[in-house]
Amino acid sequence: MIASVTGTRLSPSAYIDGILSGDRIILSRAITLVESNRHEDIQLAEQVLNRILPHTGKSKRMGITGVPGVGKSTFIEAMGSYLAEQGRKLAVLAVDPSSQRTGGSILGDKTRMETLANHPNAYIRPSATGSSLGGVANKTREAMLLCEAAGFDTIFIETVGVGQSETTVKGMVDFFLLLMLPGAGDELQGIKKGIMEMADALIIHKADGDNIQRAKIAKAEYENALHLFPPTGTGWIPKVQLCSSMTQSGIAEMWKLVESFYDLLGEKGINSNRKQQNLDWMHESIGYLLKEQFYSSEKVKAQLKTLENEVEAGKKTPLAAARQLIN
Ligand code: GDP
Repeated sequence: MIASVTGTRLSPSAYIDGILSGDRIILSRAITLVESNRHEDIQLAEQVLNRILPHTGKSKRMGITGVPGVGKSTFIEAMGSYLAEQGRKLAVLAVDPSSQRTGGSILGDKTRMETLANHPNAYIRPSATGSSLGGVANKTREAMLLCEAAGFDTIFIETVGVGQSETTVKGMVDFFLLLMLPGAGDELQGIKKGIMEMADALIIHKADGDNIQRAKIAKAEYENALHLFPPTGTGWIPKVQLCSSMTQSGIAEMWKLVESFYDLLGEKGINSNRKQQNLDWMHESIGYLLKEQFYSSEKVKAQLKTLENEVEAGKKTPLAAARQLIN
C-alpha cells in the first residue's frame, strides 16, 4: 500500500524539469505534493521548492475577495478570460477556510469558471484543505511559487470575504481587490472595515442594467470612506471602479488600474513589500509549526482533556492550565 503511494511520487528533478518546462500535469502533481502532510512528502516538497525558488517572483500577484454572491467567480472568469486572450498566463488559486469544515472547495465546482478553465493560457486549481488556516495558507503560497516557476505571469488568489483569510491572502499578494455589491445605504455590506482598509481597489460589481445608478452612488460613498483611511505607505491611493462581469464593462479599465499600481511601486517597491511578506510568513510559520508540534505531542494529548475539564469546572484558570501544559 505504502509502496503504491510512494510510487505516485516523482524524483525531485522530474518535478523540477516538468515545472520549469510548463508541464501542467507535473505542476498539478507538484501542488498535490506540497499539499500533502506526509513526512516524506514534506521533505521532497522542500527540495523541489528550494530548487525552483530562483524561478519564482516574476508574476503579478493579486488577491480577490468579497462576500459570497458578490460575483467573485464570475469576475475571475471575465477578467481572467480577458487577460488570457491578451496572452497573459493566469493561474487561479484559492484560500477557502470553509473547505476545512465541509471538505468542499470554492473552486472545486467544475461548472464555475468553465470558459476560463478551458482556456489554454489559464490554470485553475481547487483550494487546498487542511486543519488550520495557517496550514492551508502555506500550501496556497507554495502552490503560487510553483505556478510562477511554471511560467504563469499572473496569479489570482480568491478568498471568501468573511473573516481571517483576507489578512492571510493580503500577506501573499501585491494587489488586493475587494468586490462590493452596488447597494447604496447598506454601507459596509457585511464587509468589515478592516478588510476595506486592506484593499488596493474596490470594485462595485454588477454595475449593469438597473444597478448602474445605485452603483454610481455606491462608488461616491466608498470613495469618501476610503479618504478616511490612513495612507498605504507606498504612495498608492486605493481606487473605486465600477465593473460588470456580465457586460464586461470596466474589466479592461480594472486591469489598467492594476498596471498603474505596478508602475507606481516599481520593481523596488514590489520587492520590498514581498521581502516583508516573506519575513512575516516565516514568523507566522514558526507560530503555526510550534502549535502543531505542541498539539501532536503525546504528553500534551494525555493531559489536555483533564485540564480542559478543570478549566470548564472552574477549578483552574485558563492561563494556569495552558502554562502547565507548556511546561
Ligand atoms: P461568488 O459567490 O462571489 O463567487 O459569486 P458568483 O460569481 O457565483 O455570482 C453570484 C451571482 O451573481 C450569480 O447569480 C451571477 O450570475 C451573478 N453575477 C455575477 N456577476 C454579475 C454581473 O456582473 N452582473 C450581474 N447583474 N450579475 C452578476
